[in-house]
Amino acid sequence: MPNCNTTCPYCGVGCGVTAQLAGGQVSGVLGDGDHPANAGRLCVKGTALAETLGDEGRLLHPVLAGHRVSWQAAIAALGSKLQEARERHGPDAIAFYLSGQLLTEDYYVANKLMKGFLGSGNVDTNSRLCMSSAVAAHKRAFGEDVVPCTYADVEDCDLLVMVGSNAAWTHPVVYQRIEAAKQANPGKRIVVIDPRRTASCDLADLHLQLLPGTDAFLFAGLLRHLANNGALDRAFIDAHTSGLDAALDAAGNLDAAGVAQVTGLDAQEVATFYDWFTATERTVSMFSQGVKQSATGTDKCNAVINCHLATGRIGRPGMGPFSITGQPNAMGGREVGGLSNQLAAHMDYDPADVDRVARFWGATDMAAGPGLKAVDLFQAAADGHIKFLWIMATNPAVSLPDSALVRRALARCEFVVVSDCTAQTDTAAFADLLLPAAPWGEKDGTVTNSERVISRQRQLVPALGEARPDWLIVTQVARALGLGEHFDYRGPEAIFREHAALSAFENNGSRAFDIGALAQLDDAQYAALAPVRWPLPASGPAIEPFCDGRFFTADGRARIVAVQPQAPAPGEGMTINTGRFRDQWHTMTRTGRVPRLSQHRDFFSISLNPSDAAQLGLAEGDLVEVGNAQGVVRGLATLDPGIARGQSFVPIHWSGQFTAAGGASNLIPAITDPYSGQPQSKFAHASIAPC
Ligand code: SF4
Repeated sequence: MPNCNTTCPYCGVGCGVTAQLAGGQVSGVLGDGDHPANAGRLCVKGTALAETLGDEGRLLHPVLAGHRVSWQAAIAALGSKLQEARERHGPDAIAFYLSGQLLTEDYYVANKLMKGFLGSGNVDTNSRLCMSSAVAAHKRAFGEDVVPCTYADVEDCDLLVMVGSNAAWTHPVVYQRIEAAKQANPGKRIVVIDPRRTASCDLADLHLQLLPGTDAFLFAGLLRHLANNGALDRAFIDAHTSGLDAALDAAGNLDAAGVAQVTGLDAQEVATFYDWFTATERTVSMFSQGVKQSATGTDKCNAVINCHLATGRIGRPGMGPFSITGQPNAMGGREVGGLSNQLAAHMDYDPADVDRVARFWGATDMAAGPGLKAVDLFQAAADGHIKFLWIMATNPAVSLPDSALVRRALARCEFVVVSDCTAQTDTAAFADLLLPAAPWGEKDGTVTNSERVISRQRQLVPALGEARPDWLIVTQVARALGLGEHFDYRGPEAIFREHAALSAFENNGSRAFDIGALAQLDDAQYAALAPVRWPLPASGPAIEPFCDGRFFTADGRARIVAVQPQAPAPGEGMTINTGRFRDQWHTMTRTGRVPRLSQHRDFFSISLNPSDAAQLGLAEGDLVEVGNAQGVVRGLATLDPGIARGQSFVPIHWSGQFTAAGGASNLIPAITDPYSGQPQSKFAHASIAPC
């Protein structure tokens, strides 16, 4: 078998991978030189992909109530428990909790089953934790959830503003591209806006180490600065936007000194940033989890977008606001309606869209309205309102905020199904039924990365044990429920064609997401599909979003949103920030299997400023306890001068061993953004003390 091109299953960069095959095994991986995301590059996680394959720790058979059962028995049990809960308690007593790790085809059929045939909108996803504030901000500003930039813009710009992004660790190949672009163009300026001095600051001309949660003040002040200095693009504003005056009113009269006071920055540094932004047309603002995972995440994203709309810096090469997503298929999930407040193909729950999707699917029990967002969904389960919960490809007992709440929710459900490739996770421990899902390398489908490029993930080796792809499991359940005629797919290619056709159904250019051209792919063309960026309308030329100044609002104008900046609520103790390490992924069910990926960091660390540590009597490597009303974790103190005084950084990867079940999520209250429902995962208060 020749080498096979596929896509990395980790971050939202979506790098192309060339798998080297020998003797029916994956002997190694290289970066795919032809993939637009990475052009041959891979980060260390990507290079270790071959080492994650194999049966170690794998869930290989269905397990019902602790006993191995056949697939037939597993599907029958799932179907009858789902029906029982739905009939006794109503459709909103059932829920699916999905994952940005799923392939688009998996995601599509799970959404179709719940929203079109089981009558509930209760399908949400761990992508809620990743980028839902950007989705809400895009919809407010552009009328639809459209990312206006590509990685080439990040390279081509003359000023790159990285907001709440440690791309050097979290999106390493994009960071490598930025690094190479700066080497080629030393005049290119980079500003990093982050409460921590991270590895990404190594490339920065300016690091704005602001107080946690104060980003919206910085960008509201920038909008005011642009207005006061004649730097607004009046022609663009008049032709293509609305809302500027209200946005300026909301921004108030913040000048650099006022912004400096509230953000804790030096006024001269603020002024420098404002001057650079004002003077540089080709500016990209790349924003990530540091702003999205906040109780005011949507406002923060809109505060960034506002400055681009007000200067007309959008829809042209080398400029724009760019949300970079965390997960490999958070974007594909958005496309099929993986969020509980969306329908498929980026449609909403307005009556026309509900009717359109219902007619396309031939729906027999269409959800009439949005379902519960992730945190609300688990709260409802903890309160006894959700009776049946099916979790696919994610580990919410560790990744959602307030792990104790999530565990109570899982314990209270009458029936919990967990589909996963890993046998033992914190969440699997609560499962009544465990279903072995085929992981990366053992199944076929597509993913969409942060720059709207759809790429194939390809099966490289046979599925181990009795593992099956998620799309197949979902369609077999649909058949068990008597819905077989609506879920009669021979393979993922048929699902993809239907998904593509729905994006074009009664579209006529009225919706941004259109991949109608791909609905015509035959099986062989789908198998050979090269990476493609949407939109790809079935008729007419594909054009980049907003390059013609047309937005997807009713009047075609973008909205400059009035953002009233808010500081986070004060609290007792230190400010806790959470995030990823360079070489690990999520709760380490895959990367934890590769010893060399632990060489970078192999323990649960509590990072502190050295002066704070000294005040607490702590030295490097001491055991410390971090606690608040949510819970307690223990870890080893790491002294980091890049962390400001009064703050601490806790990694999200560990649970149980050496710390506490649930890890960092024990410290995070279930506070969410009111527009997006995204949890405030990057801000909490806790006390720190030696153990
Ligand atoms: Fe995979 Fe992301 Fe690394 Fe690319 S940058 S190889 S997608 S983890």
